[in-house]
Amino acid sequence: MTDAAAPPVASPADLAADVAAVRKRWTGLGLPGLFDVHTHFLPDGLERRVWAQFDAAGPKIGRPWPIRYRLTTDERVALLRDMGVRRFPSLPYAHRPGVAERLNDWARDFAVRVPESLWSATFFPEEGAEAYVAGLVADGVEVFKVHVQVGEFELDDPLLTPVWGLLEDSGTPVVVHAGHAPVGNDHTGPEPLARLLRRFPRLAVVAAHLGAPDYLAFCDLAAAYDRVHLDTTMVFTDFWEADYPVGLVDRLRDLEPKVLLGTDVPTIPYPYAHQLDALARLGLGDDWMRSVCWHNGLELFGDGVRSGGESSGTPGGSTR
Ligand SMILES: [Zn+2]
Repeated sequence: MTDAAAPPVASPADLAADVAAVRKRWTGLGLPGLFDVHTHFLPDGLERRVWAQFDAAGPKIGRPWPIRYRLTTDERVALLRDMGVRRFPSLPYAHRPGVAERLNDWARDFAVRVPESLWSATFFPEEGAEAYVAGLVADGVEVFKVHVQVGEFELDDPLLTPVWGLLEDSGTPVVVHAGHAPVGNDHTGPEPLARLLRRFPRLAVVAAHLGAPDYLAFCDLAAAYDRVHLDTTMVFTDFWEADYPVGLVDRLRDLEPKVLLGTDVPTIPYPYAHQLDALARLGLGDDWMRSVCWHNGLELFGDGVRSGGESSGTPGGSTR
């Protein structure tokens, strides 16, 4: 078991140990690496402001939250590569109107520079959202992220109606932080997502953090809708929550093809391998671990690692 009480910000020696621990987990499962559907990369200035919120245990954070992987963008890419995380997104998210397009431009450049990353983008209920989402989908963007807990908007805001229609038709997955955790607001919880899915039942939604803390309600949505998935981000770690609802582990066994490894690197207060150990200790077995840590991600997103190095500004799926 990884020591979850290790020092909060990793030293070079800690990082080397973290790499070795992660590689040991996936080689032990006989996998070629890990598919992590929930990592974050943001423009430097914004990233620093987000981290300051974590450092201050700001109103969206609610508790002390040391950031273990407080490294530059390039250092974090190198770290994930060293760990053998073969596919990972940047998952930018907009906290207010007027910033999504700038984030999307940055994320497009990141995807060009990091060919194995999942080309990520975000949107916000605002004039123009339909147009920029349509453009990104046409260009081949691979995943969107929306953050209801930070952005404080209704998932079924009328300004988003054409966006959801587009995404239902394109099948592009959307990682949705819809749950109340860590600090809820009037727009979080399972009901707004349930309402959205009643209207757009073919949406490929990945519910972040397994919908914490309403795990069972989000399991119900994953069971009811073909393309609804759940990511494991931070769930079952020593840091996250002491109590989980009765029956949750059985539900996750039944939902095996719908559960995806997510971690929230870099803003986690424990070593990466602790997330893997937290999943392994559920006792669902190595086949379940292989599905969650690799095969399910591949199934949802494909393995179209881009060839990289293009200067066109469009990280096109040249190997699809
Ligand atoms: Zn996250």
